[in-house]
Amino acid sequence: MKKYDYLIVGAGLFGSVFAHEAVKCGKTCLVIDKRDHIGGNIYTEEIEGIQVHKYGAHIFHTSNKTVWDYVNQFAEFNHFVNSPIAVYKDELYNLPFNMNTFHQLWGVRTPAEAEARIREQISRMHITNPKNLEEQALALVGQDVYEKLIEGYTRKQWGRECRELPAFIIKRLPLRYTYDNNYFKDPYQGIPKGGYTEIIRKLLEGTQVVLKTDFFANKEELCAQAEKVVFTGMLDEFYDYCYGPLDYRSLRFETEVLDMANYQGNAVVNYTDYEVPYTRIIEHKHFEFGTQPKTVITREYSAEWTKGAEPYYPVNDPANNELYAKYERRALEEKNVIFGGRLGMYRYMDMDRVIEEALNLAETELVYCNENE
Ligand code: FAD
Ligand code: UDP
Repeated sequence: MKKYDYLIVGAGLFGSVFAHEAVKCGKTCLVIDKRDHIGGNIYTEEIEGIQVHKYGAHIFHTSNKTVWDYVNQFAEFNHFVNSPIAVYKDELYNLPFNMNTFHQLWGVRTPAEAEARIREQISRMHITNPKNLEEQALALVGQDVYEKLIEGYTRKQWGRECRELPAFIIKRLPLRYTYDNNYFKDPYQGIPKGGYTEIIRKLLEGTQVVLKTDFFANKEELCAQAEKVVFTGMLDEFYDYCYGPLDYRSLRFETEVLDMANYQGNAVVNYTDYEVPYTRIIEHKHFEFGTQPKTVITREYSAEWTKGAEPYYPVNDPANNELYAKYERRALEEKNVIFGGRLGMYRYMDMDRVIEEALNLAETELVYCNENE
């Protein structure tokens, strides 16, 4: 008999949801994280009375009612709706691309006028089968939107030319012919009152948590304590990069407290011009309609990932997906190790998707586990 049923590597959302479900089923869990706090990338910290999203803007949105009900057990959500502003040189635009944006770009007022403009620009391109992000964007929104709102931002974000990026990245951007600045289409959206860390703290109640502990530095000793491992770190690192490293994109955050009540008037402002070195500035208080006398802003810079840096975004282009498939084949052969979360599955996943995946795992794994007792 080992001391724990599960060793969970990573106190992020995936690891914490799984731990919560396991504890509910009477299992014992040890959760470790190499960082000095719980929450992974959704970690929030209070500064000047404001919940600061330490690893970039996190807006909860979902179409999945089960996930929404699940997360609402652990927090009350406010009615925040994400409506970013884009700054291109000295021009301001509403995002996502909608009638407000089209009016700002061309002075058009009706959907018919906007559609005609975009259709005319698209038809000049003669793109029938978009092979990369540039072609996909031009085929979807035409030249003007692409040049002012996509090209520079995307080059900064991914550190590559748009021609070298897969088309699917841009499919995430909605295009609509209504005056609607809501970035997301999902019916459920908001920010948890009191921050995300509190959700994680509640999820981890009843679980032993050890921070500042790297799995790889203590692997044998940690594994010896548990029947099974749920690993939410990097899959390629787990196998010592034996097939070569997967690509990631990293980020750098510069946070500042400003002695003023309101810096930019909006939670998220994107800088779509390539010459501005950061991709966006977040003003945290606006996620919670804060009225504090001071404000906290964060400039987000995209950065090349190198070993040791934080791997924020998997780069799911064909070459990396192929490499991932090799690691995945090996991972599927493991009897006592399960891989999950954004890094373990090498997949761009929003929080709702991560919760869904963790609940799916809990359902299959914990039922199986109970049946075999
Ligand atoms: P993580 O949060 O990365 O947790 C993994 C944990 O494992 C980390 O704490 C890490 O320190 C730990 N770990 C890794 N390796 C080891 C090791 N060897 N030993 C010990 N510990 C280890 N989603 C949304 O729904 N809405 C948003 O608006 C949104 N915005 C985002 C903005 C940015 C900039 C980023 C990067 C992501 C955003 N997301 C958003 C996605 C969201 O952050 C993820 O869905 C979620 O955090 C994934 O949780 P996870 O547990 O899989 O991974
Ligand atoms: N994007 C863009 N201009 C913007 C915002 C986003 O061109 O103002 C593109 C960019 O390629 C980015 C993708 O859309 O990688 C997805 O952006 P989103 O903000 O939806 O995702 P996030 O980067 O926040 O995860």
